[in-house]
Amino acid sequence: MPELPEVETIRIGLQKYLVGHIIKDITINLPKQLSGDTKAVIGARVVVVKRFGKGLVIELDNGYSITAHVKMTGQLLYKEPYLSKQVIAGNAKVSMTSLPDKYTHVIFYLDKGAILFYRDVRQFGWIKIVRSDLVASQPYFKKLGPEPLRDLTFEQFQVILQKRKTPIKQLLMDQSLIAGIGNIYANDALFVSRIHPQRPANSLSEEEQKNLLHAIEQVLKKGIEVGGASEWSYVDALGKSGRYQNYFQVYRKHSQPCPRCGSEIQVIRLGGRGTFFCPKCQK
Ligand SMILES: [Zn+2]
Repeated sequence: MPELPEVETIRIGLQKYLVGHIIKDITINLPKQLSGDTKAVIGARVVVVKRFGKGLVIELDNGYSITAHVKMTGQLLYKEPYLSKQVIAGNAKVSMTSLPDKYTHVIFYLDKGAILFYRDVRQFGWIKIVRSDLVASQPYFKKLGPEPLRDLTFEQFQVILQKRKTPIKQLLMDQSLIAGIGNIYANDALFVSRIHPQRPANSLSEEEQKNLLHAIEQVLKKGIEVGGASEWSYVDALGKSGRYQNYFQVYRKHSQPCPRCGSEIQVIRLGGRGTFFCPKCQK
């Protein structure tokens, strides 16, 4: 599932290409994926594209916003006449010219012949049209914790960890405590900071807390720098894959040698998610 670096990469693309466009019309092929009054955004111009945790907010000039969460397989694909030869990467390789296909559930027709497609094979994502002043009180956005690289301070991080016995990896993925981290970056950050994923959060020393926060920032920055990880269907706003999968340290590397000490990477289930670690150098 796309995490902070992937959704940030989508945001950067949408900010670059969508801002300034006017929404002329919307077609909804699968009603469950869009809620809110579509008439409220017709004729409005895109002002800015923001991200909170793994959620996107496309702000319009008329007091409304289009909020979205791509969940597992959602794709927001921008097409302009001169960019139409773009091939969409990811598991199902399709060309931009073949859109809309059967997985294209919402279509935003923009001025100047541009189109924004919402494509989602598994259909877990959502788009909601809401008044901009009510975005922060929407169910997804109101329960987000502070975010690394934005407003999560070391002091806050310490308080979050000290109060809880939850295995540290599960805590890192709890969006209500810390926003943006999912399975890929939680696994890699724990490896970088040499902390075993099953350690109770409140058992970390101050030095380990510092190392962990630093490692989280490091892996998220790397993820953003290389355009996110295209493991399944994640692509950016033009349909291109990211490259972080080439930089996975332990994630999905079970039975392979640890890049640090050569021991065999192990995999366990923790909170229902595949958890990868080096039994020798993560304590
Ligand atoms: Zn190792």
